[in-house]
Amino acid sequence: MDNQSVIVWFRNDLRLHDHIPLSQALQRYDHVIPVYCFDTRQFRTHSLGFPKSGPFRTKFLLESVADLRESLRRLGSDLVVRVGHPEKEIAKICRMVNTNDVYANKGVSREDHGIEMTLKQSLGKRRLKLFEGNTIILPDDLPYKLRELPDIFTAFRKSVEGRKLIAEPLPLPQIVPPLPKDIEPGYIPTMAELKMSEVPSDPRSVMEFTGGETFGLQRVRNYIWNTRNIQSYKDTRNHMLGESYSSKFSPWLANGSLSARYIYHEIRRFEKEVLKNDSTFWLIFELLWRDYFHFVAQKYGKKLLRSGGIRDKKGPWRYDKELFQSWREGKTGVPFIDANMRELNTTGFMSNRGRQNVASFLVKDLNVDWRMGAAYFESMLIDFDYSSNWGNWNYVAGVGNDPRENRYFNVLYQAQRYDPNGDYVRHWLPELSAIKDHKVHQVFRLTEYEQNLFDIHLGANYPWAITMPAAWIEYY
Ligand SMILES: Cc1cc2nc3c(=O)[nH]c(=O)nc-3n(C[C@H](O)[C@H](O)[C@H](O)COP(=O)(O)OP(=O)(O)OC[C@H]3O[C@@H](n4cnc5c(N)ncnc54)[C@H](O)[C@@H]3O)c2cc1C
Repeated sequence: MDNQSVIVWFRNDLRLHDHIPLSQALQRYDHVIPVYCFDTRQFRTHSLGFPKSGPFRTKFLLESVADLRESLRRLGSDLVVRVGHPEKEIAKICRMVNTNDVYANKGVSREDHGIEMTLKQSLGKRRLKLFEGNTIILPDDLPYKLRELPDIFTAFRKSVEGRKLIAEPLPLPQIVPPLPKDIEPGYIPTMAELKMSEVPSDPRSVMEFTGGETFGLQRVRNYIWNTRNIQSYKDTRNHMLGESYSSKFSPWLANGSLSARYIYHEIRRFEKEVLKNDSTFWLIFELLWRDYFHFVAQKYGKKLLRSGGIRDKKGPWRYDKELFQSWREGKTGVPFIDANMRELNTTGFMSNRGRQNVASFLVKDLNVDWRMGAAYFESMLIDFDYSSNWGNWNYVAGVGNDPRENRYFNVLYQAQRYDPNGDYVRHWLPELSAIKDHKVHQVFRLTEYEQNLFDIHLGANYPWAITMPAAWIEYY
């Protein structure tokens, strides 16, 4: 083949809409070879005993890649799929079909950067051209250099809000040229081949999450346009049950099946055509948090993963595997925590309110090393995103971007405020279903007589609370 060809390497950007590298490649080259490589390192077992990328996210990823392949086939091309180390597999394809360049969106994590460096070296004269395209505001459009990024979100938000810099998302390509004949497209591995067990869907889940751009775009249509649930986002966003309390865009955003810039413009269009209110403002506000954590991760690099976090702070944390295990399994004896962890373990999802509470409980009430919790979230969350996960854990542990010193979530107060009738807890802990209303949050205070009455036997069919911080007494 002639040498006018380029590889578009798909990474955490599994979409065709608003895809800058693909769009540029289609403008500049006759032959475009879309490639995705499953990185086997992602499926390895972590030293704490669970896979780095667990079964929920893996299933979602497999669906997303299959959807991308289908879409490319409809446009006349295909997706070349490989399993291995992307830096090696991409270089192999380059040599085989003699491509000129590799186009891709830039990664955020330390691992991503390592892969990019190695690939660059093995490409020799060919170029690895990296683009920025997974945030609403692109780094070049920030009114300062990344190293000058404010350490407080409000300052960042004010610096970018109202600026007319956010370009419209790029449209879907109409056609993608066919793959060269001599390239084998490869097949998408199964869960078993990636050493993952299947995950059955659970009717108690907030919703069915199916990976892929097609389903992501459908979710945007549903949440914003069909149900117009966006109109009440500000009032419902702290709830924990059902599909409508928040957007649930996160899994598709995390692997890039949805572009944040596309969502941003859909919200703006809704504001123009239907309604602009506190809720539409608030959804953009939250999406800006996502951008912010992305930039924080770039500014601070590997500090984000260190015990002292981006602030180099010392904490009282212990590497206590036993306490961590109780937390992880949802066996702490604190119903609000256990219910949230059971939701995570059963579905791969947890509400933002839940995440804040379980993280704070692990770090501030159990004094367990926050990085153990962050690693577990990395494994379990269907929407794991490097910057948002590690950035939020930094924040909750008090080593990140929280301007308030020693912020403490009183879990008992939070439980009674955000689950006032105990519905959420009973939804996930059916063994406590006999305990009506908010009393379910204080199961650890039941008398012997009450335990018999409700058929709850602490220490037998529900654990004793592993801690009862003094600060809870106020809410007994
Ligand atoms: C300890 C902890 C770990 C977290 N880990 C992740 C993670 O790995 N991936 C992830 O996407 N979010 C993470 N979050 C942020 C937040 O909980 C989820 O983005 C949100 O619950 C996803 O549900 P949603 O899409 O319905 O959110 P919505 O409330 O509908 O918000 C819309 C979008 O805004 C963004 N967003 C909202 N809140 C935050 C936030 N606090 N930080 C960054 N972005 C935000 C997300 O992209 C989200 O999809 C974490 C929060 C905490 C406290």
